[in-house]
Amino acid sequence: MAGRIDYHTHSILSDGKDSYEEMVQQAILKGLDEIGFSDHVCLKPVDWAIRIEDIPVMTRQILDLKLKYKDQIQIRYGLEIDYFPGYEEEISEIIESIPVDYVIGSVHFIGDWNFDTDQSLYGKWTNDKLYEKYFHLIQMAAMSNLFDIIGHIDIIKKFRIYPETNQDKLFEDTIKIIKAHNLVVELNTGGLDRPCHEFTPGSRILEICYENHVPVTLSSDAHQAAQIARHYEEAIAQLAQVGYSEIIGFSHRVRKPIKIR
Ligand SMILES: [Zn+2]
Ligand SMILES: [Zn+2]
Repeated sequence: MAGRIDYHTHSILSDGKDSYEEMVQQAILKGLDEIGFSDHVCLKPVDWAIRIEDIPVMTRQILDLKLKYKDQIQIRYGLEIDYFPGYEEEISEIIESIPVDYVIGSVHFIGDWNFDTDQSLYGKWTNDKLYEKYFHLIQMAAMSNLFDIIGHIDIIKKFRIYPETNQDKLFEDTIKIIKAHNLVVELNTGGLDRPCHEFTPGSRILEICYENHVPVTLSSDAHQAAQIARHYEEAIAQLAQVGYSEIIGFSHRVRKPIKIR
């Protein structure tokens, strides 16, 4: 299998079900070249993120496993950090304190509303307005220059929430900002197992990424070992169909291209 990396995974230290070592062993069984961990870090107190005081435990476990399995698989140390406007300095301090290979910036909140776990406020705005609010936060996340990768870029669709009118202009404006700030977009296959039942991004935004020369990486958003590299054949076929011939890997926040065909 080509494109054998998975850069978006969660362990029991945040909201996953399995330990890092169980996930490493599964990644080796699946024939991956690289497995990247990206447990949630969130400045708000939520039950799905690692506690800030546990970050040294995360670091020690990952660095130990990197060494232990170095002849079998490359282990990458990533984070999935929530972007909150106005908290760029606090987020930067956390990132700078951790020896990461890459940082995924994600938006799971609009104001105080954690829209991907709490469905109560859908309908408060039109979906068009909701998309505008969400993608504006993604644009700000890109402009913050804090992150390497934008996480599940259209996760606002998770509960089958779609705009009332065509939003290509909003998507294009967002992707142009992502290009200008030199970020990578992940093709996150986890969305296929969520109510929206498609990858994040979906095919239209992926096409806009390609048209704007935005590089992509590949990930599963696994919350248990069995989900590592899920739906990868379909994902690689979709990338190839759009025109991509390579994806991006990271080491110490430096990129390297990886051929997928
Ligand atoms: Zn996420
Ligand atoms: Zn995630």
